[in-house]
Amino acid sequence: ENTPLAAKISDEIAKLTPKVIEKTGLDKIKIMNFCGSHEWTTTHYGLRALMPKEVELIPGPGCPVCVTPSSDIENMIKLAIDGYRVYTFGDAFRLPTVNHYKKDQIGSLAMAKAAGADVRIAYSFVDAIEDAKKDNKPSVFFGIGFETTSPSYAVLFAKGKVPKNLMFYSSIKLTAPAAEYAVKLHKATKRTPVSGVIGPGHVSTIIGAMSWDFFPVKYKIPAVVSGFEPIDVLTGVLVILKDLYTGDIKFTNLEYKRVTTIKGNLYAQEKIREVFDVVDAIWRGIGTIPKSGLDLNEKYSEYNARLQLGLKEKPWDYDLPPGCRCNEVTLGTAYPDECPLFMKACTPARPWGPCMVSMEGACAVWARFGSSQ
Ligand code: SF4
Repeated sequence: ENTPLAAKISDEIAKLTPKVIEKTGLDKIKIMNFCGSHEWTTTHYGLRALMPKEVELIPGPGCPVCVTPSSDIENMIKLAIDGYRVYTFGDAFRLPTVNHYKKDQIGSLAMAKAAGADVRIAYSFVDAIEDAKKDNKPSVFFGIGFETTSPSYAVLFAKGKVPKNLMFYSSIKLTAPAAEYAVKLHKATKRTPVSGVIGPGHVSTIIGAMSWDFFPVKYKIPAVVSGFEPIDVLTGVLVILKDLYTGDIKFTNLEYKRVTTIKGNLYAQEKIREVFDVVDAIWRGIGTIPKSGLDLNEKYSEYNARLQLGLKEKPWDYDLPPGCRCNEVTLGTAYPDECPLFMKACTPARPWGPCMVSMEGACAVWARFGSSQ
């Protein structure tokens, strides 16, 4: 029912774009949507087709399953094979390691389960806790997610609800450092720079919309925190174009005020600080991004599977399957259909790389809905 409004915003975008091009001297206005859910909206609703050719909407690194390093999955598989029960979210169940294509290798938790290991899909950390309490079997929860998921872990640890037989393997990532990494990369490699960022509304409900303020302050590009309806994304684009045209480069929380506040959810932040330390984290195919992850702090070290079971990440080299360009897709330097394996060796039914697994992965989204270009 919002078609007339979408048409009106598209019309404004079309009229404003040449003025922005003239004013900035850029030949392209590249806008990064950080979140996999924004990419879903953009592609599913064909929003790229509504953009003038000078406005390019690129996906960003906002898919937690896509960026979980192969060595984390390998560690989980090893534990499952060694007799631990491993709880995982459904998204990570089929997530392939770098070895999954090799003969006689167990290359995913799904394959470990098929080989007889005790791997269980949990819909939430609470479900895993309830299940683990039933029989006291040594178990590990594969903790994937961004800031949206971390409070659900932190609150349960802080309230003492996690049983002693359930350890936690953290692969939690923080969104803002990765978005900053991507923007810096585009700038450093002399690609068309990113001219604006659409930040994730749901993450911002936790960390606070102001967490995206560093883009205008440090990088002089506008940032908008937006919801996930097509109108939200279109309005985000329009706000960025208006900022570029007027030169009033700022952070805007225009479209998500209904749930996102400037400071975020202070209770959730307090619990996260109480339970987790900010750590350097490996992003799959990308490498280590400083201070971009969370791991259990010393107080909760008895639950920390890495510490207690002596699990290490491998020294990072290149942890994608051969030919997979998921790292480039994740950083917005390649589109999914530029990967030669897209919809050939790699499909949603048989994912070759991690961006084809979760519905937040750009390759999986493009596979289902087309590029919308
Ligand atoms: Fe990787 Fe598959 Fe995407 Fe290619 S299409 S980048 S192999 S996930």
